[in-house]
Amino acid sequence: MEPKSEIVLHGIAASPGIVMGKAYIFTKHIPRIEEKTITVNDVEQELLRLRHAQTRSQKELEKILQLTEEKVGNQKAKIFEAQIMILSDTVLFDSIKKRIQKELKNAEWIVHKEISKYQQMMLKSPDEYMRERAHDVEDVKNRLIRNIQQDLLISRFEKKSVVISEMLTPADTVLFSRNDVLAYATDMGGTTSHAALLSRSLKIPSVVGLKDVSKHVQQEDWVLVDGYAGSVIINPTRETIARCNKRKREHRQFESKLELIRDLSAQTTDGKEIRLSGNIEFSQEFRFISQQGAHGIGLYRTEGIFLRSDAYPSEQVQFNEYKTIVEKAKPYKVVMRTLDIGGDKVLAENYSEENPFLGWRGIRILLDKPELFVTQLRAMFRASVHGEVWIMLPMISGIKEIRRSKELIEQVKQELRGKNIPFDENVKIGVMIEVPSAAVIASDIAQEVDFLSIGTNDLIQYLIAVDRGNETVSSLYQEFHPAVIKTIHHIIKAGHQHNKPVSMCGEMAGDPTATLLLLGLGLDEFSVTPVVLPEIKKIIRSVSFRESEEIAQRVLEMKTEEDIADFLRVNLHAMVPELLLE
Ligand code: PEP
Ligand code: MG
Repeated sequence: MEPKSEIVLHGIAASPGIVMGKAYIFTKHIPRIEEKTITVNDVEQELLRLRHAQTRSQKELEKILQLTEEKVGNQKAKIFEAQIMILSDTVLFDSIKKRIQKELKNAEWIVHKEISKYQQMMLKSPDEYMRERAHDVEDVKNRLIRNIQQDLLISRFEKKSVVISEMLTPADTVLFSRNDVLAYATDMGGTTSHAALLSRSLKIPSVVGLKDVSKHVQQEDWVLVDGYAGSVIINPTRETIARCNKRKREHRQFESKLELIRDLSAQTTDGKEIRLSGNIEFSQEFRFISQQGAHGIGLYRTEGIFLRSDAYPSEQVQFNEYKTIVEKAKPYKVVMRTLDIGGDKVLAENYSEENPFLGWRGIRILLDKPELFVTQLRAMFRASVHGEVWIMLPMISGIKEIRRSKELIEQVKQELRGKNIPFDENVKIGVMIEVPSAAVIASDIAQEVDFLSIGTNDLIQYLIAVDRGNETVSSLYQEFHPAVIKTIHHIIKAGHQHNKPVSMCGEMAGDPTATLLLLGLGLDEFSVTPVVLPEIKKIIRSVSFRESEEIAQRVLEMKTEEDIADFLRVNLHAMVPELLLE
């Protein structure tokens, strides 16, 4: 028989590790939902089917919740608590029941219609977190419909396998882990999906966003999953296997070296101390981030708690969450960013606009809705007695926004003093520099605030006029565009001219190829996604500041992104040879 030819597919690395095994193709059962008209006499029966399905789904989820708690702990299991909560949402179920009675349609049809309505709203959101949460709602809907139709759930297989699927829900990820799962590879999904987070906690290598892996793989094919590079190789040749085995060994060695430096500081060989902190969205991520050796939080995106609830969370709810994070971060600081929702991004009210990225976003909303802003500020100030809090304002485009924000901050402080509520008088106030106008006047801004933090995710998109979420123009989204580098240089100089520390919390700070350059440009703090933290620390500890300054000077003279990226890669290889650049 002809050996099958090798196929290499590229996706997103979601959970590290390299493994090879036979494919188990998991085809998700998509329930057929037909619209059926019922008679008034059938209504009771339909409501009964709905009730049974609700109870059965609840029981299934409770089992999954328990399994998740056993395997990866309480925090991660919260996903399923949220799903169970949807199942006990009386408002939702009352409206489903009413529609069955009024429209005289079968239960699954109405469940499908009613839950899809919410889901559509969430899927339209420009916010990735919200779109991911729409998948949770989808899971609940499908589970409920499957149970109305009394279908069985299959999640068992015999042999050690690589699970290949169009997509996996968090529940699938946990249920499959009862078998001998070697790895997961899926067509859909992003790194922030709950399924990805769970596979990381379960320590099962995983690659997501492969687009059509489920179409290429056949049952029992040999599949090699590379959770470092984010690739999947179907029917790998002997040479490929040998190469991957070698990389696997190198990764193991490298990881054990990273382990050794975890608790050490990020200091260059000539003694310059760099702050290396982490980006965080939920308190649940804290354990991982401190395991990775972060010294504090350089960006706490507070949107998470706002997106989780229908209404704005109260001051007390916010305070509890902030206090938890601040206490966990001790003795290091937490840079809390005030709310950065934008456009139609899940505000409690319905709102949409043509150009959300250029629209009502971040500080613009906060200043137009001072009650929202002030409530959040109060919660943050109250949390400041429990650890070190810095407050950071998003989407600043000019001085007026800073001054008005400072007035509101003063007002909050006065109010707290008046009520004898303790807070730290020295909370530092800083801004994100992520809008080109703010970058240009960074020197004036530096005189108004205590610190600057460069948000490259937005800065790059606004500077080059390229939507950060639009795949069609993604090749133009270049972090090494000379204009981006010159702008970063300008911001750092402006901060230092007024003795204000400058950090970077955009994704560029976590790109190992950029580390030498950013170091040489004088960046004081790198705030990065936790997974890359040990690698960035390794680079900083392996090079001298003086050398990186020379590299940065050379880069500032270069004209194209390709030249810059090549130059940085070559230097990084030469200076940190053990680093494994994919
Ligand atoms: C940024 O823009 O770089 C940033 C860190 O903020 P966000 O990604 O949350 O917009
Ligand atoms: Mg931003």
